[in-house]
Amino acid sequence: MHTEIKAADREGILAAAGVIRGGGLCAMPTETVYGLAANGLDPAAVREIYRVKGRPQDNPLILHIASLPELFPLVVIDPETEATVRLLAARFWPGPLTMVLPRSGLVPDVITAGGPTVAIRMPSHPAARALIAAAGVPIAAPSANLSGKPSPTTLRDVTDDLTGRIPLILDGGDAAVGVESTVIDLSRRPFDILRPGGISREALAAVLGEEVGDASAPADGKPPRSPGMKYRHYAPAAPLTGLVGRGEDSLRYLASLPHPEENAAVVFDECAERAAALGYRVLSYGAEADHDAHARLLFLTLRNADRTGAGRIYVQISPDRHGRGDAVFNRLSRSAGGDLIYLSAE
Ligand code: AMP
Ligand code: MG
Repeated sequence: MHTEIKAADREGILAAAGVIRGGGLCAMPTETVYGLAANGLDPAAVREIYRVKGRPQDNPLILHIASLPELFPLVVIDPETEATVRLLAARFWPGPLTMVLPRSGLVPDVITAGGPTVAIRMPSHPAARALIAAAGVPIAAPSANLSGKPSPTTLRDVTDDLTGRIPLILDGGDAAVGVESTVIDLSRRPFDILRPGGISREALAAVLGEEVGDASAPADGKPPRSPGMKYRHYAPAAPLTGLVGRGEDSLRYLASLPHPEENAAVVFDECAERAAALGYRVLSYGAEADHDAHARLLFLTLRNADRTGAGRIYVQISPDRHGRGDAVFNRLSRSAGGDLIYLSAE
């Protein structure tokens, strides 16, 4: 299949809306990561998303809307839940927050993986909003990568994965947030985060005026409530080892390893020179305390680390989980498949 790349201007948006309305797929920019978009009310189009990505069938999709009134036909909620939705929407929409709510009959089974709830988000990227509005339907859009790989945050990452597989890619520049949305389950009390993301748990708790639980790392033996969390995910081709601790401590650890020249080190800006002096292929992803930069650059940096041909990728990870630190920690521990080394401050 020939893949056209178009700027996300008026003409590009209209072309993409035509593809979506015709039951096809296109890649669209959002502020979190690029999405692989289809008409969310068309089961055949949504099935194509699973096929093209190689996504497991039991991993439900998020529906994207352009304005709050578009939410209500998709859900069945009581007045108290509606008040909560309005409160969160007023503060965080459009933006990187996804709300899980009891679904209505309008939502196809293939969206929810047969479950009783549907996940809904209103993105802030102007091209995503314009596309949803022009298509006139809610848009299903998981990340526009092949299943298991790091999510795409730049045009190049999307074209690497999807050229020849879909008819159209909209170029909307680099993703500003860089990690996926926070998924919060509002279908039961207490509210829980199912996946940490662009909006922090502290910010949600402050607006809701109550504690928000964390169900993103379920107890051993129990299936996760966000089915996507059970798969190896976000993984570069090379094996990844996470070094959790202060930059100074993980640098000392890196200095003790044999054959640095065969491996890549993804480090805080402050550590880049010293890691390079040790012989590693160095990529930096923001200052040590800058969780927003880590989130923005994380997936691109993992892809770039693979592009160096390194045998193994070591990544410095901040133990501080405030703000987007929680999402960065979550994605990196999933990329590492649990291969994390905790370095004490002593
Ligand atoms: P992605 O589209 O790749 O960003 O992944 C969407 C995430 O939202 C996955 O982790 C899904 O498992 C999760 N998700 C989507 N719909 C639901 C739902 N109805 N209930 C719980 N989690 C959901
Ligand atoms: Mg994804």
